[in-house]
Amino acid sequence: MGSAKDYEEEGIRFLQDACRRLDVEPELTGILVSPSREIRVELPIRRDDGSVAHFSGYRVQHYNALGPYKGGLRYHPNVTMGELRWLACLMSLKTALVQLPLGGAKGGIDCDPCLLSSSELQQLTRYFVRKMHRDFGPNIDIPAPDVGTDASVMAWIHDEYSVIYGYSPAAVTGKPVLIGGSEGRESATGQGVGIVMHEYAKHRAEQLEGNTAVIQGFGNVGVHVAADLASRGMLVIAVSDSQGAVYERNGLNIEKLRRHKQETGSVAEFSDAKAISHAALFRLECDYFVPAAVGGDICEAVAQEMSAKVIVEAANNAVSYEASHVLQAKGITVLPDILVNSGGVIVSYFERVQNLQQMPWTVERVSTELLATLQNACTRVFAVETGKKCGFRAAAFDIAVSRLRDGICTTMF
Ligand code: NAD
Repeated sequence: MGSAKDYEEEGIRFLQDACRRLDVEPELTGILVSPSREIRVELPIRRDDGSVAHFSGYRVQHYNALGPYKGGLRYHPNVTMGELRWLACLMSLKTALVQLPLGGAKGGIDCDPCLLSSSELQQLTRYFVRKMHRDFGPNIDIPAPDVGTDASVMAWIHDEYSVIYGYSPAAVTGKPVLIGGSEGRESATGQGVGIVMHEYAKHRAEQLEGNTAVIQGFGNVGVHVAADLASRGMLVIAVSDSQGAVYERNGLNIEKLRRHKQETGSVAEFSDAKAISHAALFRLECDYFVPAAVGGDICEAVAQEMSAKVIVEAANNAVSYEASHVLQAKGITVLPDILVNSGGVIVSYFERVQNLQQMPWTVERVSTELLATLQNACTRVFAVETGKKCGFRAAAFDIAVSRLRDGICTTMF
């Protein structure tokens, strides 16, 4: 994985390429590349054993011309402002691509949630909200889950924010359903990945059924991708998490693997499959390779060794700029993050709508609207790609960047 600086610089090269293709004026490119605001706060906490621990909390607000800032909160020891800068920009591109009235942001805390107790995590989260509440809000900036955070963390954010401002469910999404979360939010990102793969196969006049998939990462997104692909008749032949990787050429039993992970905390040592190394996972022959871990793992050297037919970026920024050129030369298709994993922010937007209208939707309505929104986005991306023969990332970026440029021009000049 590259350093945070590489990560940011490499990502921005994708954006700069799109600006060049679209003839965006250099001054406007400068505005798109630079976040509107960056906030860092110090977060000391008292640990359960009486000692003091010290973390940094971050929020990067990239763009809000088309709606309030929107993006996840990541709890991970490697969180830095540089990494969040590009992830926030990706959120702006994503919400623009799928035509949501939202902007883009990303934040996090440089902690390892596995090394903190639940009460320490709660203390840290509540303190973060107390320091950040003026910059959050239903019409300002709306956080959501990301790596290392979940519905419980969102519930603490909701509660702490509501202590200050009164009941405000629309200030955060990804909450438990009981307190205003949306039905279907937890599985939305993984379900969306399956929809985009289905639409891609349809576009190619192919079927997903009987095809093989490898999934890197078995967290919130990876688990639901695996279940969705298995339900479409695909063979998920290998899966990994931070502690190990497992392979079964006839297809893994996803439900059994999920239970094993629940009981043991990892996919490693799953008795119905062979253990393989993290590196070997990337080299497996398969139809679809789905990175769904923390991102940044498919660098140039890894790309050289891959032999999947299609890479489906469920994780943000999974394929580096250099790697994307290697994959293109090898004829490996990449379906880009801003399309593939947009199911999460789409259902987050539905959650916001339900909160503002105080009118919960059924899970069927959520699924129907998610399908329609993603089909619409796929149709537009595939049409641009067919016309320009530019690759799916370039097609998606061109659509998103031109909408952001129009947003800036309409509001500022
Ligand atoms: P998560 O923390 O729930 O899961 C991450 C998984 O990756 C875990 O299983 C972890 O063990 C595994 N992992 C970490 N390092 C690994 C490595 N080196 N090799 C293999 N596995 C590794 O996070 P998540 O919410 O599932 O997010 C995964 C990705 O999807 C991130 O890039 C995130 O930004 C993106 N994403 C998430 C959402 C969402 O709704 N949660 C929405 C859009 C995009």
